[in-house]
Amino acid sequence: MELTSLADLLDVQDLDSQIDRLLEERQSLPDLAAYKVAHDELEVLSKEMSEASATLRTLELDFDKSEGELEMLESKLKEHETRLFAGSMSGRETEHMRLEVESLRGQREAMESRVLKLLDNVDPVREDVGSLQARHDSLVAEKARLEASIKEDWKRIDAEIARKEERKVEAIKPVEPDLLKLYETLRAAKEGVAVGRFENGVCGGCNMALSPAERDEALSAEIPRCVHCRRILVA
Ligand SMILES: [Zn+2]
Repeated sequence: MELTSLADLLDVQDLDSQIDRLLEERQSLPDLAAYKVAHDELEVLSKEMSEASATLRTLELDFDKSEGELEMLESKLKEHETRLFAGSMSGRETEHMRLEVESLRGQREAMESRVLKLLDNVDPVREDVGSLQARHDSLVAEKARLEASIKEDWKRIDAEIARKEERKVEAIKPVEPDLLKLYETLRAAKEGVAVGRFENGVCGGCNMALSPAERDEALSAEIPRCVHCRRILVA
């Protein structure tokens, strides 16, 4: 009974190790790392984009305002010029209007160069926002692609794990409860490996050799354990 139980425990260990490997694979998919990189870059990019967009908005508002002022100056100038050239004013009034027109022309010139300068400032920022947006969009698409691929891998791995778990339920049945309890305790303490196959005088758990005396002592116990790592030995 004991021997049967021990051999069955080796099957349980084998299935558990396969499940552990699948869980490890589930957590370390290359796409997962790539997804994290894309996610982090997207966070940084979103911040840069909102900053650049805010700068662009300020510049555009400034530009619109200056353009509006330029239009107002132009219509005021036109109105003054019309009155000046109509020639129905007194000499003093005409002189006053002439000076006014001159001043408005100066103001218009200054505003024109201001509008042009603002346009020069707006263009590169608008280009920046555009290229940030393009990078943003491609990262969003990349993330979606990675997410789909990860989900597909997880689906496959989870199905494999479910199959192994089903087989484990069967494999556990013939194992005595006390032995199973020891097995679970050891698995938790020994990086998932509780059982070592004992072959050619070497423990399969820690790969250390047992002397003939140690071997006799270990194998004569009710549950054989390695003298070095204390794992269960299955001869
Ligand atoms: Zn050992």
